[in-house]
Amino acid sequence: MININWDPDIPEDNDFLIVCISNNEIFINTNNCFYMTPLELQNKNIELIDRSYIGKLNSKKIFAINIKEQEKIFFEKINLRNLLPFIEQEDFIILSRALEIINWKTKHKFCGKCGERITENISEGFLRCNKCGFIIYPEISPAIIVGITKDDKILLAHNDKFKENMYSIIAGFVEWGESLEDTVKREVMEEIGITIKNIKYFNSQTWPFPNSLMVGFTAEYDSGEIIPDGVEITDAKWFDKNNLPDIPKKGSIARNIIDTICK
Ligand SMILES: [Zn+2]
Repeated sequence: MININWDPDIPEDNDFLIVCISNNEIFINTNNCFYMTPLELQNKNIELIDRSYIGKLNSKKIFAINIKEQEKIFFEKINLRNLLPFIEQEDFIILSRALEIINWKTKHKFCGKCGERITENISEGFLRCNKCGFIIYPEISPAIIVGITKDDKILLAHNDKFKENMYSIIAGFVEWGESLEDTVKREVMEEIGITIKNIKYFNSQTWPFPNSLMVGFTAEYDSGEIIPDGVEITDAKWFDKNNLPDIPKKGSIARNIIDTICK
């Protein structure tokens, strides 16, 4: 069970675990484990002073550290996105938080308002400048993702960045001034040129690539001809629910929406 309430004191008996991060990468030890003990890191002379509190998993506190370039030789690195289908959702949340918190602190070493160096002053999930009091809140960029249906078919699109024959549902970032429903309608119109109706909330998922919150929806086709934008989306079409192309891996909200629509 996860608990992310703010409780950053180090347990006296060293009974906590560490996640090692560097540049969007998570590291694993020789036991293929991404949770490491203080002792195994201290034995490698890795300092735990600059640690960030992540939360508790099954009552055990987890911290994250940003390891130095020369310390990477002790570990293998892993890609969280590739790991997603194979790990528990709770581990995904802990690793997502570790990546996002470390990256956020790395980007905010100086105050964006007065230029003062930000010393370690994190509390309840924000940083504060000791000189001018400016508060730096977590960066979370909401994005929508929507599964659209038309009778027994689902709309899937091929993004220019995808592998060949890989298709998914429409997604995009929320713009200033928009409601989530506005974003859903705009992204669908911009990327494939159709209008939709019956927009319904599905669920949401933290998405630390790099710092998003994916908010899922379903919707029905309303009107228009599919015209891919040709830049981001190079192909889009209606697929029979029983005959899908390659789709995103299990564990992602995209896959959950597709599986739910096509079950
Ligand atoms: Zn400042």
